[in-house]
Amino acid sequence: MTPCIVAVAITGSVPKKKDTPAVPVTPEEQIASTIDAFRAGASLVHIHVRDGAEEPCSDPELFKAVQEGVRSSCPGMIIQFSTGARGRRLEERGGMLHLRPDMASLATGSVNFPTFVNENPPNFISDLAQCMRTYDVKPECEVFDLAMLYNAIELSKTGEITSPPHVQFVLGIKNALPARREILAFAVSELKLLCPMATWTAAGIGRSQLQVAQWALELGGHCRTGLEDNIRFDKSRLATSNAELVSLLVDRCSFYDRHPASPQEARRILSLPDVNLLAAAV
Ligand code: ZN
Repeated sequence: MTPCIVAVAITGSVPKKKDTPAVPVTPEEQIASTIDAFRAGASLVHIHVRDGAEEPCSDPELFKAVQEGVRSSCPGMIIQFSTGARGRRLEERGGMLHLRPDMASLATGSVNFPTFVNENPPNFISDLAQCMRTYDVKPECEVFDLAMLYNAIELSKTGEITSPPHVQFVLGIKNALPARREILAFAVSELKLLCPMATWTAAGIGRSQLQVAQWALELGGHCRTGLEDNIRFDKSRLATSNAELVSLLVDRCSFYDRHPASPQEARRILSLPDVNLLAAAV
């Protein structure tokens, strides 16, 4: 079976220190947390940054600091910046793409979240996709609702995003798609039918995190874990770190005859530059 790219979403926009002391919010904490997650088996890190009050922000200097630390300490790990909407001004969300991370998230539509509209108007999506092409950043198309899948496929067909596309299905956010296996299986079958070369991953939010990851392992996709999506190890206690959540998922891989992808394998699967080429360019 294909190796599984284990992505770790280390920080996100929501959890704060008062919710869990494990969430990394400064660049130093984020780098240290990523190194531990990398050693536990993660080959991709999804990054948000926070200001001094732990609020989400788009400050390129913070993204730069985290990227530099991860690049120097986690050889070949895929770096993905978030362009997510929560707590960030529309015009600033792509303001760090000139730093040329390997990847960035690209939500391909708008959807209600529990307390706000995750707003991604058509012209904004086009502009962000154009910016990613300019800086050679591969998008991860975020699918929070089914229509966003078809829009991601359309963007790929028209050449607005690189082909083959990489899609992430996000399940378990209130007001958006619920964490139901039938929905994931249907979405994956549609993707395979309409865009056979596409790659895909899935993220379960809150208590559905591990369940969704197991469905993805079973269906041949990739997985995401981390404190952005879920701060608990199980019902009884909080997770102690991002690495602990990564280890939990890595342990599950063998149940499905999968293994966690090395950075080299992950880069090959996602058509990203090889680790050796990166090393030569430094
Ligand atoms: Zn995110």
